[in-house]
Amino acid sequence: MQLTAGVYKVDGLRAANVYLVAVDDGLLLVDTGMPGNAKRIVAFIESTGHHAADLRYIVLTHCDIDHIGSAARLKELTGARVAIHQLDGPVLAGQQRAQKGGALMAVFGRLFRIRHVVPDLLLKDGDVVGGLTVIHVPGHTAGSIVLVRKDGVVFSGDALLSDNAGQVRPPRPRLALDPAQAQVSAERIKALPIKLLCTGHGAPVRF
Ligand SMILES: [Zn+2]
Repeated sequence: MQLTAGVYKVDGLRAANVYLVAVDDGLLLVDTGMPGNAKRIVAFIESTGHHAADLRYIVLTHCDIDHIGSAARLKELTGARVAIHQLDGPVLAGQQRAQKGGALMAVFGRLFRIRHVVPDLLLKDGDVVGGLTVIHVPGHTAGSIVLVRKDGVVFSGDALLSDNAGQVRPPRPRLALDPAQAQVSAERIKALPIKLLCTGHGAPVRF
C-alpha cells in the first residue's frame, strides 16, 4: 500500500510493520518483521516495479525479533546493507543477549529461531542514512531510533505506536527496557513536525 510519494507499507506481513522508502540511490527498508517474511518483502519490492537488488539499506528501528526477524535472509536476497543503532547492534549480531527478559520475548525466542546478522552500519544520533535522519530515542530498547524524512514522514518503530484507526498511542511500559526513558522519548517524538507517522505497530497517522 502506498502511503505517500515514495513510501509504501509492505502488505500481508505478520507482526510489526515494514515500510519501503524510495531514496536517492534506490530503496530503503524500515524493519523486516518476523522471521519468514523475506520472500514476501522481495515480491512486494518487485510489485512496485523495482528489483530486489535496488534495495540499498535495511534499517532496523531496534533489535526486537518482530522487527529484525527477516534481516539476515533479506540481506542475502538483496545485497542491501543492514543498519542499526550502535547500542542494539551487538544483539542483532548475536554478540550480546537481548537486555529485555520477560515472558513474551522468551516465548518468541522458543517459537522462532532467529538468525543473527552482523550490521554493516552502526548508527548514532544525527546520522543520515539514505537521506533519512536518525534520532536516538532510547527506552523501548537501548538503541531504539526514529527515522525522519525532510518532508515530515517519521518512522517511529516501537518508540511511539498507533491503533488500527490511526490514533497515536504511547509505547507500552511493560515491553520497555526502561519505561520512564521510553516515555520521555515518546514525548520528544511527538514534538517533531510530523506530517505522516509510520509506527512499528498500528495504522499510519496523518496530521
Ligand atoms: Zn514491535
